[in-house]
Amino acid sequence: MKKRINELTDLLNEYAVKYYVEDNPVVSDYEYDMLLRELKSLEEQYPQFRRSDSPTQRVGGAVLEGFESVRHEVPMESLQDAFSREEIEEFDRRVKGVFPTARYAVELKIDGLSVEAEYVNGAFVRAATRGDGVVGEDITENMKTVRALPLSIKNAPPRLIVRGEVYMPKKTFAELNARREENGEPLFANPRNAAAGSLRQLDSRITAQRNLSIFVFNLQLCEGREFSSHKQTLDALREYGFPVSPYYTLFDSIDDAWNEIQRLGEERSSLPFDIDGAVIKTDDLSMRAAMGSTSKYPKWAIAYKYPPEEKETVLREIRVNVGRTGVLTPLAIFDPVFLAGSTVSKATLHNKDLIAEKDIRVGDTVVIRKAGDIIPEVVRSLPEKRPEGTVEFTMPSHCPDCGSVLVTEGPITRCDNSECPAQLIKNIIHFVSRDAMDIDGMGTSIVEVFVEQGMIASAADLYALKKDEIAGLDRFGEKSADNLLRSIEDSRTRGLDRLIYALGIRQVGQKAGKILAKQFRSMDALAAASEEELCVIEDVGPITAHYIREYFSNPKNLLYLERLKAAGLNFEDTSEEAGTKFSGKTFVLTGALPTYTRDEASRLIEAEGGKVSGSVSKKTSYVVAGEEAGSKLVKAQTLGIPVIDEAELRRMLGIN
Ligand code: NAD
Repeated sequence: MKKRINELTDLLNEYAVKYYVEDNPVVSDYEYDMLLRELKSLEEQYPQFRRSDSPTQRVGGAVLEGFESVRHEVPMESLQDAFSREEIEEFDRRVKGVFPTARYAVELKIDGLSVEAEYVNGAFVRAATRGDGVVGEDITENMKTVRALPLSIKNAPPRLIVRGEVYMPKKTFAELNARREENGEPLFANPRNAAAGSLRQLDSRITAQRNLSIFVFNLQLCEGREFSSHKQTLDALREYGFPVSPYYTLFDSIDDAWNEIQRLGEERSSLPFDIDGAVIKTDDLSMRAAMGSTSKYPKWAIAYKYPPEEKETVLREIRVNVGRTGVLTPLAIFDPVFLAGSTVSKATLHNKDLIAEKDIRVGDTVVIRKAGDIIPEVVRSLPEKRPEGTVEFTMPSHCPDCGSVLVTEGPITRCDNSECPAQLIKNIIHFVSRDAMDIDGMGTSIVEVFVEQGMIASAADLYALKKDEIAGLDRFGEKSADNLLRSIEDSRTRGLDRLIYALGIRQVGQKAGKILAKQFRSMDALAAASEEELCVIEDVGPITAHYIREYFSNPKNLLYLERLKAAGLNFEDTSEEAGTKFSGKTFVLTGALPTYTRDEASRLIEAEGGKVSGSVSKKTSYVVAGEEAGSKLVKAQTLGIPVIDEAELRRMLGIN
């Protein structure tokens, strides 16, 4: 038993780091919860083997490097969980045994990231993540980008601390992942992890782009005001202007509370955000105080977790699609099933290794669920229901679109023919897309028609299109041909950063496009950069550097670039007339500067071509330290990075 306890402790701790620290879970929440239950019950039977680092003893999470730590004045506790009606009834017996008149509030359990926000005299001053429940990360700047959170409140008490859940709406999550897939960036497993990953960005500009929102569900502290019930506190928070968690209803009996949980469960898939359960809380605050907490959670509340909705269906086909970068993705096509609010009939199988690992075969009965209630996935196949004669899946040896011999690199299979029609079409679609060259009116079907008609064979051909060629096509008239040509014309003025992104270099997303344009300031300089030069740029790792180099070493790409240049596209960065005093330099700001806010100082640095980063590393050029500078200052001193104050920064900027 000791062995199993050790094994589970190690495994769960490993999963928790992936989940809480890296925002990148490797198993489903359900699997994690079931293993945690096994560990809990073994520890109850054999308490002598329980380790002090057991996940049953602590609230998950840790402070990431690069963030200041914040000690919570009121601990941010977790919740005990329940997976059955019996457990809920047991909770009721425990509560009613002491307080027979207890009433329960039932609320949605929003699946996001727990944060607290503090207000002094009505002004928002600080926000922090939960972390380990005692110490969290300072995410004040990032929280300012969450528009639903008020930055000032009227008729406020002298001090107020609220707790809420930051979440990413399902729609934003689906759009974000679709964009990331297109750019060859890793996908977020579910909206919770996407929200956590977005909020714990060192650069608040990235957080701002992610459309996060918040529901406030608890009053942690309110100086000078007394409340007697949870409902009163939520009503007060609503009056202060906070977006309070929707649907909080009071019930006297556990049966009614249970019915409400079932009702909320049925609404789950139609809600615009993800929930993973419902929470039952004792409403009376004096009863709460009397019941108290364990080291991890309050005894007066319990979270019921909905089981993941899974359905069985039959896998009819594994179709292989060629993506923009030539990567082949197997796609499962199965008999349609209704799951979490919609009918689904396909799911990506990612790569050949995953299919082999899960032993998925055409003809198998498979179990389907939706990751984060949104993206369909094949959980497993059921070999016990396998018909005779099924065979293991193998990737084709030749590209289904152009017939070229495929190349295999680990789990990835790729078509390396840059003229492959499937890639070509997807590349052009990427080039014209909104975040790239933004050619209005040039949708997928038009690109396909133009390629099929032989009018274009690369994005460079777009700039040579003639009106009569277009106007002669089905669905086009004089006017629509003119409009399209005008959009193409307009796209010539897009900045260098967009053009770099539009090229579709592997791993080079929008953000990398911006950084590269800023650093090199011309396409020719970027094309001439060595892998070593690329590697030293913050946010460009060795793999991306390799892909960039590879792209600019390919004679076909160079020819393509020549044609884009001849078409008059922006090969120089003209975005800033501003200075270049700080180009290539990275600054980190820490502590409060005497006159500038962080945003002001950042803008000034960036206007001179410098970059502002949230964490100190060997690549940092200067740390600008103000009053009460914390761990970043210490790190700068340890690494021997020059530390300057605001006066020195002004001098360097030429401002007196
Ligand atoms: P929890 O997420 O299950 O419950 C506590 C949290 O619920 C609180 O922090 C709070 O922010 C949130 N919450 C949302 N709405 C609320 C409301 N109305 N009232 C009160 N709280 C509300 O507990 P946890 O300790 O944060 O994490 C455990 C969860 O993390 C489990 O679901 C587990 O499966 C998952 N997890 C998964 C992995 C993995 O690898 N998949 C690893 C570790 C943890």
